[in-house]
Amino acid sequence: MSGTAREPRVVIVGAGVAGITALHVFRRRGFSDVTVLEKGSDVGGVWHWNRYPGLTCDVPSQLYQFGFAPKPDWSHIWASGTEIQRYHRAVVDDLGLDRFIRLDTEVVAAQWNDSESTWIVTIAGGESIVADVLVCATGVLHHPAVPDIPGLDDFAGEVVHTARWPDGLETDGRDIAVVGTGSTGVQVVSALVGGASTITHYVRSPQWILWAPMSLRQLAAVGSLLHRFPGVHDRLYRILLWGSGILADITTRPSWRRRAVQAYARLSLRVGVRDRELRARLTPTDEPLCKRQVVSGTYHRAIQRPNAELVTEKIIEVTRTGICSADGTTRDVDIIVLATGFEAHNYMRPMEIVGRVGRTLAQEWSAGPRAYRMTAIPGFPNLFTVLGPNSPTGSISLQYTSELTAEYIAQWLDRWRAGEVRSIEVTDEATDAFNADVAAAMGPTVWNTGCNSWYFSEGGSIDLFPYDRARLTAMLSVPDPSDFHLR
Ligand code: NAP
Repeated sequence: MSGTAREPRVVIVGAGVAGITALHVFRRRGFSDVTVLEKGSDVGGVWHWNRYPGLTCDVPSQLYQFGFAPKPDWSHIWASGTEIQRYHRAVVDDLGLDRFIRLDTEVVAAQWNDSESTWIVTIAGGESIVADVLVCATGVLHHPAVPDIPGLDDFAGEVVHTARWPDGLETDGRDIAVVGTGSTGVQVVSALVGGASTITHYVRSPQWILWAPMSLRQLAAVGSLLHRFPGVHDRLYRILLWGSGILADITTRPSWRRRAVQAYARLSLRVGVRDRELRARLTPTDEPLCKRQVVSGTYHRAIQRPNAELVTEKIIEVTRTGICSADGTTRDVDIIVLATGFEAHNYMRPMEIVGRVGRTLAQEWSAGPRAYRMTAIPGFPNLFTVLGPNSPTGSISLQYTSELTAEYIAQWLDRWRAGEVRSIEVTDEATDAFNADVAAAMGPTVWNTGCNSWYFSEGGSIDLFPYDRARLTAMLSVPDPSDFHLR
């Protein structure tokens, strides 16, 4: 097969970790016609949208960075959301990527034109852009999940979802309810308890919390040293990357290491909460690590402060003035904070993406998201995802996965540019085989030990990556043409 060589027009949707990585990798590989469409007013993805008090990344900062944009001088071992967001902006500026990114530009639809082998991408407001290749880097934890609690809409005070925290919200001296106890709820309770008049934490299912000194500063001398010796910094990054690989292994296979982390989670609760009755109410019924592990050095102290109250009874309704729980008590509050997580399996939805035979992605995914090696979807030629379904969002470095995926896509772009292919569509068979393997491999994972979490998609399957980093690397190193229909 051979045709005319020309530059593919590439549209990337989203300028978070995945989108910035894809843009940089494609530019590095010499692709000149790349446009990123981002609906937010800045780059950064989750770090742009999430601004709630206490937001800290529980992945060490020296690991939570792009391999191509090392930052030796983080202020803390675990950086704040604000510092991470500033880093994303700086990376985009320093690498000269800004001119390829259109902010405040929301993609609402994309339609495959089979005769031209192009995507017609529609932006809110009506503008259309033609792309040869569409890359969806729309993230996982993006669409806030708002619980269906009777009366919530009629609450007279303020209702705030953590992922849409309003600038300037006054919390000091106020009575605050926080609903939800994932990583977010734990952070926000810890941050607000000092200034609030009262904090009531509504916990439907307690979660295991690993104690870690999250506010530890990184010594300035360490930053200077790493800055001066990039080789040492690179070595440290690789060690952390390797370490995160070990962590992936802890969740994917039973081992003494898994048991050790689980024992540490139990110890964190035992040491952190001396009161037996409170400890009993904070003890989860599932195994540590079954849900996305929560890490905090402050929550157990926070919930034991005199102005904090833990409520484990079910929420019955929200009244005009407060929250009524199953014990019959209504606690009046000024602000209800919903730390209730995300519709994690929406991916590109609700964008209306119409594929080769006229079916939408929403129709194709009505029983849950399904993709081939996290990157390609049958029926949707020349469409790739970065951090798509089954990406290792709970374990292996997101930045590493994004770069690997972008390099994989770039290999297809190379073939497109050389005129060898115009339409690249993964086969149903290859996609089914991949998903069957993944489902079988979920057996020994800790996620499969009987808890309910955002890891489960609407179809009931676990939307994670059950292998290690070596397997991920092997899967995405070189595309296998026999798994694709090529035109
Ligand atoms: P989450 O882990 O999905 O937790 C949602 C919480 O809300 C759960 O406790 C859930 O209870 C509760 N909830 C939902 N609906 C409810 C209802 N109707 N009534 C009462 N409780 C309700 O969400 P998240 O805490 O926002 O975290 C999501 C993910 O974001 C994390 O797992 C992590 O991957 C990421 N994150 C990372 C960091 C970081 O430091 N790197 C920080 C924040 C978030 P049930 O368990 O009973 O459903």
